[in-house]
Amino acid sequence: MRWIENVERFVFGAECLGCGKPSGKLDPWLCPECAKELERESTVHVMPGLDAYSLYPMRPLTRRLVHALKYKGISGMATYLVRHCSAVRCGAVGEDLSMLPKPLYFVPVPLHKARYRERGYNQAEKIAAALSLVFGGKVCRWLRRRTFVVSQTKLSREDRERNVAYAFECTLKRAPSTGTVVIVDDVFTTGATTSACLAALGRDFPLPVKVCTLLYDEPASAAADFAADNQMEWDVK
Ligand SMILES: [Zn+2]
Repeated sequence: MRWIENVERFVFGAECLGCGKPSGKLDPWLCPECAKELERESTVHVMPGLDAYSLYPMRPLTRRLVHALKYKGISGMATYLVRHCSAVRCGAVGEDLSMLPKPLYFVPVPLHKARYRERGYNQAEKIAAALSLVFGGKVCRWLRRRTFVVSQTKLSREDRERNVAYAFECTLKRAPSTGTVVIVDDVFTTGATTSACLAALGRDFPLPVKVCTLLYDEPASAAADFAADNQMEWDVK
């Protein structure tokens, strides 16, 4: 945040990231009304699938907050959302996580290099760090994005889809003998990203693998987001 914005926040009260209205009672991102709404959202039970957890449903408010995390440089939003959810839901997700074999290895989905340069951080790493703080465990960068040097126009749609399925590779030489891997991403969409992560770990990976995301989105509306996120893969030449 630039210093001038800090001064503005001090003098006028900053804008709520939820409704956009200035408020002197931010917490520090939401006004009391939006904070209440977030509290309600965090009690909604979301089921992205077996072995997958999402902390919030995709709603206008939660979408705006994750957008702030990804595109406005507000990296502290990851901790805010994880902490808020774990407090409000009395740790329902935490309870599930507590049943899993320990330690928990939170493995963030890697960001494309160009996106990383643009953003300065990987939002999935921030979320993984928040999860490991709140629920106990460690952040492990065991996945790497493969770089494809191909022309997008030369690939058929099927080829492109197949390549997305192999978008990641595992950097881990030898898997630990105990514990649970939790793959961490911002949004659970079609599950294509997490499937690609599972493919990278390999069929014979010895530990149980779970998925945890901030948001769960219905697949139909998510297809466009996924395409936008992965488009950079094909812009190499
Ligand atoms: Zn508000």
